[in-house]
Amino acid sequence: MPVDEFDVAVLGLGGMGSQTLLHLAKAGCQVIGVDQYFPPHTYGSSHGLSRLIRKGYFEHPEYVPLIERAFELWAALQQQGSQNLWTQCGILEGGPENGTLVQGLQKSIEQHNLDLPIVSAENVARRYPGFNLPSHWQMHFEKEAGFLRPEACIETALGLAKQLGATQSLGHPIEEMTSLNRGVEIVTRARRIIAAKVVLTLGPWSPLWKSHVDIPIRLLHKRLLWFRPSHQNHWIQGNCPCFLFESENQFFYGMPAYDQVGLKLARHDGGVPIQSVHQQVDATEEEHSVLDFAARHFTPSLEHVEQTASCRYSMSADEQFVFGQSPLDPRIHYLAGLSGHGFKFATVLGEVMSRWVLSDELAEDAQFLHRRRFTSN
Ligand SMILES: Cc1cc2nc3c(=O)[nH]c(=O)nc-3n(C[C@H](O)[C@H](O)[C@H](O)COP(=O)(O)OP(=O)(O)OC[C@H]3O[C@@H](n4cnc5c(N)ncnc54)[C@H](O)[C@@H]3O)c2cc1C
Repeated sequence: MPVDEFDVAVLGLGGMGSQTLLHLAKAGCQVIGVDQYFPPHTYGSSHGLSRLIRKGYFEHPEYVPLIERAFELWAALQQQGSQNLWTQCGILEGGPENGTLVQGLQKSIEQHNLDLPIVSAENVARRYPGFNLPSHWQMHFEKEAGFLRPEACIETALGLAKQLGATQSLGHPIEEMTSLNRGVEIVTRARRIIAAKVVLTLGPWSPLWKSHVDIPIRLLHKRLLWFRPSHQNHWIQGNCPCFLFESENQFFYGMPAYDQVGLKLARHDGGVPIQSVHQQVDATEEEHSVLDFAARHFTPSLEHVEQTASCRYSMSADEQFVFGQSPLDPRIHYLAGLSGHGFKFATVLGEVMSRWVLSDELAEDAQFLHRRRFTSN
């Protein structure tokens, strides 16, 4: 089999890899992207028609500068591609005043001067009559937030990367990776590649490459539900924003109905631990908790589940993303442990990764995500 040589090989072309490939192609690199399937596909972490995007980052205020850059890059990508990637319908978010979500939001708002005004319970009830929320919850509204269409985002990034000259090798898994003096050799059934540098963006398959991706990752199976509510008008985009609520230490989120797609509702915490991506699970308990939340906080209650899907979270030890380098070969870089909240950052993480690989310097704004945080004490 002939050997093809590249400056960089990006292995895994889901949300993260497709953006990394695009940024490397934009930088003028000879780059190849490899995936075992034909992305976008439904086997990993980047499918399910919608992903929340918001600046009010309750999880950690240090994400805010990254998400601000991600917003700029998504807007630019939207201009360059032909598909609708992003709907800015706003997000209503809140819960108990002393809860994790509201406390975390306040930190981000104060540190970064974010525009997320408090909305009174009366205003929420008047504006969105489908929600039945406790009047003591503190609610915020973020106008610029909304949802991304992950499949269209991946398709657009891969399409633009191709136009810029990036090579793509799809439909065959990487079987071997060997460090040589002149680069890293990557073998699939169809090709042999030698790349001076390698990026691993393998999502929930990362634990299979743990000699390189040297962090513990727990996989969680997650369930998504779509409803066809009886009061359809309450829930269509235009009348309903995205939402994220903390209720009794659980986190529920959703997106309005649009086109032929119903109202989406899912739980962010919890999930069923799995040992491998393709493990089948019984998700009844998670579904019940979503239905129970809907019964308590939607009026009239949502009953008709129209569609469901399964997806996987790759959880790092502290639930924050991890930029690392293989302990066996520092030319191999990885981005892993996206922990169920990474998609909105894909544009900026792709940019950060491409610059890191090319310059050997990880951007200041992403230093808090470096793998060394697990070894510093
Ligand atoms: C149910 C659910 C809801 C979510 N909601 C949100 C949200 O609202 N907002 C948000 O920001 N984020 C959200 N996330 C998180 C976000 O979607 C993920 O963080 C992101 O999609 C991870 O992308 P990835 O590129 O790391 O993984 P993936 O998209 O899974 O990509 C990994 C790729 O690697 C390829 N691969 C693996 N092994 C090999 C091999 N040996 N050879 C070749 N190719 C290989 C796979 O085929 C795959 O295409 C959610 C995730 C889930 C599951």
